[in-house]
Amino acid sequence: MNEYKIFINGNFIEGNGGMGEVINPHDNKVIAKYYIASKEDVDLAVKSARQGFEKWRNTPINKRIRILQNLSKLLQENVDKIAEIESLNVGKPINASKGEILAGINVLDFYIGAINKIMGETIPTLPGLFNYTIREPIGVCALIVPWNYPFMLTMWKISPALACGNSVIIKPASWTPLTAIELAKLCKEAGIPDGVVNVITGPGNTIGSYLVSHEGVDKISFTGETKTGSEIMKLASNTVKRISLELGGKSANIVFEDADIDEAVNGSIWGIFYNSGQSCEARSRLFVQKNIYDKFLSAFLEKTKKIKIGNPILKETQMGPIITRTHLNNVHSIVERGIEEGAKVVYGAKKIETEDLKDGNYYLPTILELESTNNTCFKEEIFGPVVVIMPFETEEEVIELANDSKYGLAGTIWTRDVKRAIRVSSSIRAGSITVNHPLTAIPGLPFGGYKQSGFGRELSLDAIDLFTEKKSVIYKYDENPFNPWNL
Ligand code: NDP
Repeated sequence: MNEYKIFINGNFIEGNGGMGEVINPHDNKVIAKYYIASKEDVDLAVKSARQGFEKWRNTPINKRIRILQNLSKLLQENVDKIAEIESLNVGKPINASKGEILAGINVLDFYIGAINKIMGETIPTLPGLFNYTIREPIGVCALIVPWNYPFMLTMWKISPALACGNSVIIKPASWTPLTAIELAKLCKEAGIPDGVVNVITGPGNTIGSYLVSHEGVDKISFTGETKTGSEIMKLASNTVKRISLELGGKSANIVFEDADIDEAVNGSIWGIFYNSGQSCEARSRLFVQKNIYDKFLSAFLEKTKKIKIGNPILKETQMGPIITRTHLNNVHSIVERGIEEGAKVVYGAKKIETEDLKDGNYYLPTILELESTNNTCFKEEIFGPVVVIMPFETEEEVIELANDSKYGLAGTIWTRDVKRAIRVSSSIRAGSITVNHPLTAIPGLPFGGYKQSGFGRELSLDAIDLFTEKKSVIYKYDENPFNPWNL
C-alpha cells in the first residue's frame, strides 16, 4: 500500500503526528496511508517556506516562468495518473477528474502568462514629487483546500501564489490528501527551489488551526465551509494576516417560461448533480415559472432518472458516490429533516443499496418540492445531490426568492429575453451569474462570493491582488531642499 509523506524543504519526510488512512468512497476500502504532521512539522514547514520565499522572490522573472512551464508540462504528461488517483480518492467519475486536472493546468498556464505583466502605476502627485507603484509578493502563503475538488482548487491557489513570487504551504483536506502530494513530486521535478512549495497533511482543527495562527505565515487562502472560514478569520486576526475566503453557497437556478426547456432541464441537472452535488456553486435551489412548472418538472424527473450512477473509474459513469459514509449520513439526515418540515419527495431521498453499490456511499439524486422557504433544505448548504424546486409567478418574486439566502456565490437564469436576463442578473446578490448555461468556474474569469460565501476573487487577474502587496515609491526631484521647519 502506498504511503504518502509530507513535503518540507524539498524532502518527503515522515510526519510526527501519526498516520491516517485514505478511503475509496466507492467501496470504503483503504487505498493509501498518509503521514500526519505534528506542530513541530508545521514549524519546520514555515521555516522552510520562509527560506523558500527569499529564493523565489529573487528568482528572475524569466526563470520563474520557465520553471512553472516545466511544471505545466509535467502535469500534462501525468493527467491520467492524477485523474485516476482523484477518482479513487474522491469518487469523481473518471472523465470529470480528467476534465478537472486539465482545468487546473489551464489555471496554471493562465497565471504563467500573467507573471511578466504584473505591473505598477505612475500616479500624478504633489509638485516636485514623482511616484511609482510596484507589486511585491506577500510572503509565506498557507493554502487550505477542501475535499470536493482537491487538485483543481489547489491549482487555483498555488498558481497565482507562485506566479506572484510567494512561497506556499498547502494543507489539503484530510479525506483527500493524495493529489496535493503528487503535485509536490512534480514541483520538485520541475525545478521549483526547495522550500518554495511545502505540503503538510493532518487535521484542520489541530494543525490547520496552528498553521493559520502561525507568526511566520503572512497570507491565508482558504476554501471550505463558512463556519471554518469565520473561525480562520478569528485565528488570523492576532497577527493581522492577509486572508481570502471562498466559502459555501446555496445558488439559485431560475427558469423563465420563455426558456429553451430542454436545454434548461439538461443544464439544471448538471448544475446540481455534477460531482454528486458536492460543489460550492451547485444550483441547489431551482425556481421555475408557474406556466411551465409541470412540464419542466416532469422532464427534469425523467432525465434525472437516467443519470448513470456507478463506479467512478468506469468511463460511462456520470455520478459517483458521496465522499464518506459520515457525509452521506449528514446529507440523508438533512433531507429527512426537510421532509419532516414539509418537503415533498419527487425523487430519491434514499441511499442506494443495490448489490454492486451497497458498500459505497451512494445516494440517489434527490428532488424535493417545497411550498415554503421555511425549510432546512431551502436554507442550508446540503453539499450532496439534493435540489429543492419551487414555482414562481413574477420576476420580482423570484428575485426575492433567489436573494433569500445568507450565501451569494452564484446563480443561473434561463431565458431568451436579453433585457430580462440583464435585469435579473443585476438584481441577484451573487459573485457569478450565468445565463442559459451553468458553467461558473472558468480560468480567467473571477470566481468568489458575496455575503457569507466569502470575499476575494480567484481564477482571474483579480487574484494578483490577493497574492501581492502594493508598494508606493515616492521620489523628490524638486531642486529646493526639503526643510519644512526651517531648521
Ligand atoms: P472544511 O471547512 O471542513 O475544510 C476545508 C479545509 O479546511 C480542510 O483542509 C480542513 O482540514 C481545513 N480546516 C478545518 N478546520 C480548520 C481550522 N480550524 N483551521 C484551519 N484549517 C481548517 O470544508 P470541507 O472540506 O467540508 O469542504 C466543503 C466546503 O467547502 C463547502 O462548504 C463548500 O461550499 C466549500 N467550498 C467553497 C468553494 C468556493 O470557491 N466558494 C469551492 C469548493 C468548496 P480537514 O479536512 O483536516 O478538516
